[in-house]
Amino acid sequence: MARAADLKDAGRGEDWISVDYFPIYAGIYARMTDNNVRTENCNSGQGRNADKYLQLELVGNMFFLRHSADGNEWKDLPCSPIVRNDLVNVSLQVGLFHATYSGNKGAVAFEDFSVEYGGSFKTARLDFPKDGQGQIPTKSTLSWIPGTGGEHHDIYFGTSIDAVKAANSRMSKGTSPYKGRQAVSDIDFEIDGLKDGTTYYWRIDEVAGEEIVVGEIWSFTTYDRNLADFGKYGSTEELSAAWVAGGKADVKLVKGALQLGYNNASAPYYSLAEYTFGANQDWMSSEFSLRRITVEFRGDPANKSDDKLYMIFEDNDWGVSRTIVEYNGDPANLRKHSWNRWDIDLRELAASNPTFRLSSVRKMALAIGNPGVPTASGSGRVAFAKIRVDRMKAADGQEAWPRYIEPEKFVKAVPFSDVSVTGGLWRERMEVNRKSSLPHVWSRCEESVRGDGQESKRLDNFRKVAGEMDGGFTGTYFNDSDVYKIIEGTAYSLQNHPDAELEEYTDKVIDSIAGAQWDDGYLYTFYSLPEHKPEMRWTNVGAMHELYCAGHLFEAGVAYYKATGKRKLLDVSIKLADNICDTFGPGKKANPPGHQEIELALIKLYDVTGNTKYMDMARFFIDQRGHRTGGRNLYGDYSQDHIPFIEQEKGVGHSVRAGYLFCAVTDIAMRSRDEAYGNAIFRLWDNITNTKTYITGGIGQPGGPEGFANDYELGNGCYAETCSGIAFSMWNHRLHLMTGESKYIDIAERTLLNNMLNSLSYEGDKHYYTNPLSSGGHPRWEWPGHDCACCPSNLVRTISSIGGYAYTHDDRAVNVNMYMQGKAKVQLAGNEIALLQTTNYPWDGDVKIAVRLKNASRFTIRLRIPGWARNEPMPGNLYKYLDENNDPVTLSVNGSPLDVNVENGYVTIERTWKSGDKIHLVLPMSIRRVVAHPRATADAGLVAIERGPIVYCAENKDNPFGLGDLKLPDSASLSATFEKNFFSGVVTITSDTDPKLKLIPSYLNANRGTGWMRVWIPRK
Ligand SMILES: [Zn+2]
Repeated sequence: MARAADLKDAGRGEDWISVDYFPIYAGIYARMTDNNVRTENCNSGQGRNADKYLQLELVGNMFFLRHSADGNEWKDLPCSPIVRNDLVNVSLQVGLFHATYSGNKGAVAFEDFSVEYGGSFKTARLDFPKDGQGQIPTKSTLSWIPGTGGEHHDIYFGTSIDAVKAANSRMSKGTSPYKGRQAVSDIDFEIDGLKDGTTYYWRIDEVAGEEIVVGEIWSFTTYDRNLADFGKYGSTEELSAAWVAGGKADVKLVKGALQLGYNNASAPYYSLAEYTFGANQDWMSSEFSLRRITVEFRGDPANKSDDKLYMIFEDNDWGVSRTIVEYNGDPANLRKHSWNRWDIDLRELAASNPTFRLSSVRKMALAIGNPGVPTASGSGRVAFAKIRVDRMKAADGQEAWPRYIEPEKFVKAVPFSDVSVTGGLWRERMEVNRKSSLPHVWSRCEESVRGDGQESKRLDNFRKVAGEMDGGFTGTYFNDSDVYKIIEGTAYSLQNHPDAELEEYTDKVIDSIAGAQWDDGYLYTFYSLPEHKPEMRWTNVGAMHELYCAGHLFEAGVAYYKATGKRKLLDVSIKLADNICDTFGPGKKANPPGHQEIELALIKLYDVTGNTKYMDMARFFIDQRGHRTGGRNLYGDYSQDHIPFIEQEKGVGHSVRAGYLFCAVTDIAMRSRDEAYGNAIFRLWDNITNTKTYITGGIGQPGGPEGFANDYELGNGCYAETCSGIAFSMWNHRLHLMTGESKYIDIAERTLLNNMLNSLSYEGDKHYYTNPLSSGGHPRWEWPGHDCACCPSNLVRTISSIGGYAYTHDDRAVNVNMYMQGKAKVQLAGNEIALLQTTNYPWDGDVKIAVRLKNASRFTIRLRIPGWARNEPMPGNLYKYLDENNDPVTLSVNGSPLDVNVENGYVTIERTWKSGDKIHLVLPMSIRRVVAHPRATADAGLVAIERGPIVYCAENKDNPFGLGDLKLPDSASLSATFEKNFFSGVVTITSDTDPKLKLIPSYLNANRGTGWMRVWIPRK
């Protein structure tokens, strides 16, 4: 092999590489020390029979990555060599998909690597007692996940970040931040004396003999429950010192209440009393209850009738973001001399300003006036007694407020089978899916090989168990799931495009699956060959994926039944589900699946059969997480099994498992009105979208365990697995069904177009497992080449049913959520309507919709105005556009222009519609520059380019120069061109810089050979 022989900078300690390889649990950041050849014995991975060794060699500025089955014969991985420049400021991810299957589970030992320690502590959390009532508890527990190399941990804890940073174990214990040393097996520490409204810092060092590896600093903030109890102030002076009057106002203490006297004669036409917290208030974390702010106020008869009462909040996160909440009670209360109570759902703060961060509230104000109606004169007063944050817990049986599950907001999806996609990008991808991907994945189920060259015949496994042929199991233990997912994709494809030959073939496969089912319903070929092993089944549901495979079977059974009316696979599913319900549950086996999926599939089975025991089973599995029922060991945060689900606050662990879990929780929350589930889901979504989602909508960070890492740790050599993007889209779609809110569709669309489509080659027969935003040359792989085929099979089912994301409705309104050329049938109350869309979206923002219906009738059509057309790249504040763009959205019906008032992400048209009415919507498709939150340091100094919903990238192919010359100054102008003959016809972007930069839709990268690729580009 060709090698660069320049060794002058080899072997420095700064070189590091992030090697994500499948399916290892942990320890993935490896650093070169002083020996240029590193060989890793992967003997503690999980699984069976694959390569046991991984080798990394540094030669000059290149890393060579190799794998081997026996430690003697080495093969270069396709990604080798990796250029050292790729490793500067970016954790390069390489797909090592062949490695590490052996008999045990657990962390991987990098025997010759020194493990980068910073990545080892993955969780920090504050445990509160579960009563949910009363004041903040004074005791709490720190817990963490230990690294692999230590014997002891040193614990530091205090209220000063500098003191915690500087402390060491030579200090005396007690009052100093040093709290002592404990064995590495002891992974939590009790703290007491916590105070409200205080930020605490902590650090855990790993101690091995003389060596101490210093840990990262973690923090949490307790919040003031009583934000203000004015009775505790002794004098007006004391009150005024804390509450500063703004505008033409004065504040004073009258009978234990704050009295805000105001004069709203000049802009901003309201007056306020303002309070600044000593530290940012975290109203999102450290709690698992529903929260509201309660304000007690008293009006005055002299107040003007158009005066309004407000609370104003400011965060202190990425600059300052302000949000205003208006009193929504009876306006006459402002003129009544009696006490009123005003409850504010904390979510309202984010609803009026999506970039506002509840996790870092710094200021609040009480205000009166009317900013909308300038008033020549006017004065009055309002008294306030108390402002506090209340915790309420639905699980306590009390009426929970605010409510997270509001059935009046539920919407139904228009099923993909009622949506035909007839043109544009999605039609093109659907055709490729049907003609190329689907036959390809079926052929690989017939015959494939594993990375180690051994055969892997998924369909033969079923045929052997069914007695149609002889032989043992081949392939990987969870391979049944791919067949099921492909049947599901085939079912969807048959619904769009009947194909008698394909249906007959699938029927035969289903016959073999039915033949492979045991008499009592059990079905899993891995424990059925060469003969049934009843003693093995359900012995290791944490690792062996039997329940995961069962889930995909149920989804396939339901899909095939709906597509063809044939019950055989559905009956197989029901028989297995009944066996599972007999085996697991209260008083029976309590182990939940290590890889979630079955939960959402059980809901589908419930929906189609109406049998509630399936939903109960799903709930049982969810509620077992984090509980050691029956003395079982927890799987840890890798499988979201570290704490009970309703207490989970952050996206952790394997992101596909998490995504499927969240889908099921949302399904159950809707169906059984479960407020505790709704609350947890709201909080998890907030954390993930604000700190762990890529600009492409992908999730799964480098250094994470095939999934989530720390907040804002968004290195661009990321994992962003195709399946996790699909699971994330599925979850966001369900959240939209639960709330009717468009922000969830903003994310689903971003993810499907930029993360999911990225996975599939233009021809449809090669795939990415991971979808990084930065690469030195990362080819899509062919199947075989990787025996884990979760992503290819997931793609076929998702692309063939993509039309199901486009529309939702309730009885009186239809939401047009995604723009794609085609026709939809929508069932409104007593009225079936059809919508015919004509558009070249996403390359063009021009959308024409013709309405067809029998009899003219009154109903509402809502058109989604995507976040990018409203200066909001993603919900939350993880990304911002560098510039404001106020190019208008325009709208007309039958040629008459309408005002565009966007509310909750939709423009609403309510009228009496008649057949032939035409809507014309134009979304401005300007080229936009995006920057990331300053805490996302991997993107510091970088810019990403978007146009409409498409994220762009620069590729070496169009930009024949070194990465050192890649830059896009803010002053450069960019122009868009529709290139009819470039792939299926797409818009590309060029700069006027020297050298000129050409950008292509990022999902098309690596379709013309591989070279460097970047989504984020240096601004200087
Ligand atoms: Zn996958």
